[in-house]
Amino acid sequence: MHEVADLRCSVLIWVGIVWVIGWVAPVSAQQLPVTTTPGPPPEPLRRVVQPPFALELFFDDLPQGGVGLVRVLGEGLRSLTLRVFDEEWAGFAVGDAHYALLAVHYSQGARGYRLTAQIEDSRGIFHVIEADFRVTVGNFIRSEATMPYERAALLDPELEQEEAALLCELIAPVTEPAWLRLQLPLDRPLSSPFGEFRRFNEEHLTRHTGWDFRATIGTPVAAMAGGRVAYSGWLVLRGNYVLIDHGAGMYSGYAHLSQAHVVRGQRIHPGQIIGRVGNSGRSTAAHLHWDAALQGRWVDGVALVGMWLPWSGG
Ligand SMILES: [Zn+2]
Repeated sequence: MHEVADLRCSVLIWVGIVWVIGWVAPVSAQQLPVTTTPGPPPEPLRRVVQPPFALELFFDDLPQGGVGLVRVLGEGLRSLTLRVFDEEWAGFAVGDAHYALLAVHYSQGARGYRLTAQIEDSRGIFHVIEADFRVTVGNFIRSEATMPYERAALLDPELEQEEAALLCELIAPVTEPAWLRLQLPLDRPLSSPFGEFRRFNEEHLTRHTGWDFRATIGTPVAAMAGGRVAYSGWLVLRGNYVLIDHGAGMYSGYAHLSQAHVVRGQRIHPGQIIGRVGNSGRSTAAHLHWDAALQGRWVDGVALVGMWLPWSGG
């Protein structure tokens, strides 16, 4: 199957044709609960049985920027590795089942893909189960933004590429899962959504790697989940930035902070206050920019927090 080049570390080179079609005003503020209630495990939407194992998909199609959950059940199941988008996704044992999460880059081509589950049994023999699924076009808006003169130098594409390359390295390691439950970092209205096509000062085109929350300077920011601090310091565009490794390839980042309360390497407990809302870096007003990533890709954090996950104890 034809695959596009590795998207994980690419900075979008995006042509202005969408602007000809027209632009959509930013979504009105949305209020969401600060913590999720995972509830009972959902029923899988698809099941491919190949005795002694069964592959279950908790999704049908996946939108660009979305996250999908896969489960394998069966007697003598030792390990699971998924192969999707020409990449391997490690599975994790939870009880008798093995699960894996897969993430769709926001620029992944919208079409059909094949998912291959490599399943190792207790004798060390590998079994393969395949399933096809579709990536659909994400529901991304377009917006116009104005960067004031004194911060306009921050629109330099080279700065964006440098920061993206640094973050790409930081969000690459896949460590042991450290999270039990995910939560939104702030109980405040969401403003700009994930994946937004944003044009600054009528010429500079960018993609929005996370979600923005409206909040005043000094508002405490909670960690999305437990984990370990992968970065805490200054980034040219994100300003004061805290990045947390939650394990299993999952990361969350908190940008434009006025203060960071944590240091690199520090263990974080669920919901811990890791910093304060600010207006540092490439920001035009006080707000929290919140990134979520899975295996090297920025994903829709609000959708991720709303997912049922096997580690959430539900
Ligand atoms: Zn933002």
